[in-house]
Amino acid sequence: MEFPKSLQALIAEFKKLPGVGEKSARRYAFYLLGAGERKMKEMQEAIGAVATRMRRCEMCGGLSEGALCNICSDEKRDHKTVCVVENFKDVYRIEETGQFTGVYHVLGGLVSPLDGIGPESLRIGELVKRIKAGSLEEVVLATGSSVQGDATCLYIAKVLKPLNVRITRLAAGLPVGGEIESTNANTLGRAVAGRVLFDAPEEK
Ligand SMILES: [Zn+2]
Repeated sequence: MEFPKSLQALIAEFKKLPGVGEKSARRYAFYLLGAGERKMKEMQEAIGAVATRMRRCEMCGGLSEGALCNICSDEKRDHKTVCVVENFKDVYRIEETGQFTGVYHVLGGLVSPLDGIGPESLRIGELVKRIKAGSLEEVVLATGSSVQGDATCLYIAKVLKPLNVRITRLAAGLPVGGEIESTNANTLGRAVAGRVLFDAPEEK
């Protein structure tokens, strides 16, 4: 027996979510049906609000509903220290550790030649602009310890070298190949607190 078309379509949408299979998708769809029209409307409105209001912060590239995100517009944050991360999810991971009081810069990816992602497709130019604008003193590279994370660190360190800014990297202790997203908050917090100077090797 087949489900009515609209219900089939809803189940199909749920199945696109990470970690949701047929069984869970049906459960969610039936839950909504059972919960009634008001619940469905609330869900619809929440998704609609995210779709229309969510944008990228003009300064850091993180999630925001206005021109500047809550972090960039917070005067109590340390605006001289910027933490460079792969994506907006990493901002929240590092915030959870409670060990970082500076601001962020979201790259939008990592350098990965095999996937055709070169540095020019990341927000590195914007980072250079922020440094040249004059108020940044320390750049914390927090791109994880994967091959791509390492390559991205090296590239950025090289680009920033002439700019007279302190470059640090998260302390050892991150699992090898580890992404910020999957590192537990304690480990990540220790790595943030114990960051170490990072210098690009001299060009031969
Ligand atoms: Zn921001």
